[in-house]
Amino acid sequence: MTVRKIIKYGTPSLRETSKEVHKISKKIQILVEDLYDTMYAANGVGLAAPQVGENVRVFVIDTGVDKKTMHPITFINPKIIKKEGAVNSYEGCLSFPEAYTNVRRYKYVKIKALNEKGKSFVLEADEGTLLSRCIQHEFDHLDGILFVDHCRNRFEADKILTDKGLPPVGADYLLEELELEEEILKQPQQNEEKK
Ligand code: ZN
Repeated sequence: MTVRKIIKYGTPSLRETSKEVHKISKKIQILVEDLYDTMYAANGVGLAAPQVGENVRVFVIDTGVDKKTMHPITFINPKIIKKEGAVNSYEGCLSFPEAYTNVRRYKYVKIKALNEKGKSFVLEADEGTLLSRCIQHEFDHLDGILFVDHCRNRFEADKILTDKGLPPVGADYLLEELELEEEILKQPQQNEEKK
């Protein structure tokens, strides 16, 4: 069991595009184990390999609400094959200590990946679930995209980040997502969901 150090926002490697895994080697299996150990130790629901300094296309998720219903899922070389709808998501990230803000996400995603044994699987995450939002969040890490890039209010996000001693939202990284925003505004009752 190895709990690795989680890389913090501001470190350039978090912005890199991660490389595909060509072989599920012992090294990759150990990385997967370490990702779970590190994620559980930090009380997180997802962790991507770049967050522990390995720029490879691997992430793990466990959105079980308590440890009695553990539901770990490993994603290697994932591809999002379908995405629909829009939802407001109040998110944080283990690389951003104590900083949370509202971001735009798709409601539903369908993803294809390999598990830790190299077996291919397809997973559909129900509309607006924590699993759906978490998949999108972790998937982004593999392309150097961070949750604050999806922020709905840049000024609010900047304030939250700088209050926590973190760098502000990078203007070059901000995503416009006008269609997602329009759709979110049509459903105001769903706007304040916390995770
Ligand atoms: Zn994250």
